[in-house]
Amino acid sequence: MTLATSSACGEFSPPPRLLLGPGPSLVHPRVLQAMGRPLLGHLDPEFLQLMNEIQAMLRHVFRTENRFTIALSGTGSAGMEALLVNLVEPGETVLVGVNGVFGARMAAVVERCGGRPITIEAPWGRIVEPDAIRLALARSGPVKAVALVHAETSTGARQPLEAIGALCREAGALFIVDAVTSLAGLPLEVDAWGIDACYSGTQKCLSCPPGLSPLTLNDHALTAIRRRKTACRSWYLDLSLVADYWEEGKRAYHHTAPISMLYALREALRLVEEEGLESRFARHRLQSEALGAGLEALGLSPFAQEGYRLPSLACVTLPARIDDAAVRASLLRRFQIEIGGGLGPLRGQVWRIGLMGESARRCHVLTLLSALEELGLDQGWLAQPGAALTAAAGVYARPGEPGAMPQKSARMSSEREKACS
Ligand SMILES: *Cc1c(COP(=O)(O)O)cnc(C)c1O
Repeated sequence: MTLATSSACGEFSPPPRLLLGPGPSLVHPRVLQAMGRPLLGHLDPEFLQLMNEIQAMLRHVFRTENRFTIALSGTGSAGMEALLVNLVEPGETVLVGVNGVFGARMAAVVERCGGRPITIEAPWGRIVEPDAIRLALARSGPVKAVALVHAETSTGARQPLEAIGALCREAGALFIVDAVTSLAGLPLEVDAWGIDACYSGTQKCLSCPPGLSPLTLNDHALTAIRRRKTACRSWYLDLSLVADYWEEGKRAYHHTAPISMLYALREALRLVEEEGLESRFARHRLQSEALGAGLEALGLSPFAQEGYRLPSLACVTLPARIDDAAVRASLLRRFQIEIGGGLGPLRGQVWRIGLMGESARRCHVLTLLSALEELGLDQGWLAQPGAALTAAAGVYARPGEPGAMPQKSARMSSEREKACS
């Protein structure tokens, strides 16, 4: 037997994709540049300073005063697993809202932690009604925690959370929230809504590559961890060990932080701060309304319950005349555009179009709509071009929108800036 002596691989040069799927989202060039900077040792004082800065900026985006606010190594799912494996002990009951893939994933993780998940189910695309949660809390005996997904990326539904924290507090249950597709894309108020533990991911509305999971725990949650009767079943995700690494003054080695990823996150958070949370939310809202109007004009209607649709992810139902696979393949091949298909039971039934972070920009919305119009004409599912772009333009032209048609004096340069606003 001979072993290959060298590989034939050349340099990898990824094609310039327009990422409009359910994640990862587009990444700002400043973030990519930050990742290319030379490494520091992970206990270097300069690096420890960078960790402090990230913690401060994460508290700002989570809207929390929680000291324990960190960027866990691993993607969003690692954050989910970390919170559940630390907060749930074998035999404990957790109420889990399940109205899509990610709620179901939470229930599965609770089970693997030895916990007893009781699911509160709602049809996909609908929210889990606060009353159903109240009822389940009343009926379930002692409940360790209630776990909900804020932004259900598989259906495009936004779960209302404002009233749940108080219900949990009354019942003596912790309130755990998945904010993977909401953090920095739509309002999330960890402290004001009484959320005890919350996790997110870097690759969605933070517009950073996948690899870190920002998470935050308040004193109730930390106390629950301190009072565990059994050791956390995960060593890598044991937050009491991870805490010793992130806590200022301690910084004891646990595992080597992914240095370059933290550089990237710091830069992504700086971009969020420069824009301001309110403006960022408004941008996501405007772009999603324009996209929604354009898609509706093509016959693609929103899947999620009215009044509870995510600005960061449009999930739309496909009319029978549209061939899911053919259109998505052509979008990628001819236009370099990635959008997402349906998950699980929604496979072939819906598209999931992400407008997260850097992807939520007017130029990208218009590029996608015009590509869809061209494909529609080509593939025979659209008779007349122009309707989608016209509908989107109507949203941008609403008085008061940043994209509204300028007064006559507006200069070209500012117009160009607006085109990708
Ligand atoms: C993407 C996503 C996750 C998982 O994040 P990964 O980065 O893929 O591990 C969890 N929850 C929700 C709601 C998500 O959208």
